[in-house]
Amino acid sequence: EDVVNRIAAGEVIQRPANAIKEMFENALDAGASSISVVVKSGGLKMLQIQDDGHGINRKDMDIVCERFTTSKLTKFEDLTTIATHGFRGEALASISHVAHLSIISRTKDSPCAYKAHYRDGKLTPPKPGKPSDPKPCAGNQGTQITVEDLFFNVPTRRRALKSPSDELNRIMDIMSRYAVHNSGVGVSLKKHGETSPLLRTTPGATTRDNIAAIYGSKVANELLEIEDADEELAFKVRGFITNANYSVKKPTLLLFINHRAVHSTNIRKALDSVYAAYLPRHTHCFAYISLEIKPEHVDVNVHPTKKEVHFLHEEDIVERLQQLVSKRLVGGNM
Ligand code: ADP
Ligand code: MG
Repeated sequence: EDVVNRIAAGEVIQRPANAIKEMFENALDAGASSISVVVKSGGLKMLQIQDDGHGINRKDMDIVCERFTTSKLTKFEDLTTIATHGFRGEALASISHVAHLSIISRTKDSPCAYKAHYRDGKLTPPKPGKPSDPKPCAGNQGTQITVEDLFFNVPTRRRALKSPSDELNRIMDIMSRYAVHNSGVGVSLKKHGETSPLLRTTPGATTRDNIAAIYGSKVANELLEIEDADEELAFKVRGFITNANYSVKKPTLLLFINHRAVHSTNIRKALDSVYAAYLPRHTHCFAYISLEIKPEHVDVNVHPTKKEVHFLHEEDIVERLQQLVSKRLVGGNM
């Protein structure tokens, strides 16, 4: 059974960046205003994420790593109200099947924090012979999750991830996207033992500030804001795109649908074709686009690793987006 679970878990969590994405979304779901990540060896040896969100209460500490646990938790609300991020209850469970996982968490009303270790979905003793119950400890409100030795028990998966620096780049990429999208939240990423962060935003900074901090002020100074909504198609869009006189080295699209980072080949292509009409060949745009669509119109949550997203009225919405970008590029810096 454990082998089957391990294989299933390896499908959900394929590399450190997937684990970070899931845990980052959990921190956001917990209402965090500050999220810091520390990694060792590109997250393969260790990744740790600390937030100042509402925390996990003592009772839930027992079951947070059980598969499909979400509905059993005390804070559980109507699924539709939390449809923006995860509601599968698979992330922590999966991680606990392929790594050593420990959690320190404290809720607002609790006099102390609790610490617990997990293996294969269940509480496990910190050391053989010790009790496995969550243990009271010191800690501020919020949650710290530590994942060590990812894929220690899935050697084929572990071997497939060759370079820690490649994994670190992927972590940087996903955290950069989420940092830009969540401008109310202060985000930082550090290598273990180093003091200067690889990535840092401050709570309360604007989206443009964050793009400047992460992607450079050059790009940030060339951005045009876009905004549109349509009741009939039930969508809203907001974002920033580089103007038609400017090119970035690498085409970059930070795309969010219902606050989840996703990829859409159709949106990518639509953007490229608009810019191709304005920019000389071999030049590229930078775009941050946040789309909000009725949750029931999106199949983004079908499978966590399925990054390519599709949605209802896709053609119409992509066309609207294309027109919006096109109009904005003609309008220039007005
Ligand atoms: P899901 O997010 O789909 O419910 P996860 O496996 O990602 O499933 O998380 C399981 C549960 O653990 C969450 O529903 C949440 O109640 C709790 N949890 C996880 N991370 C945090 C966190 N950083 N702060 C507070 N609660 C958390
Ligand atoms: Mg989750």
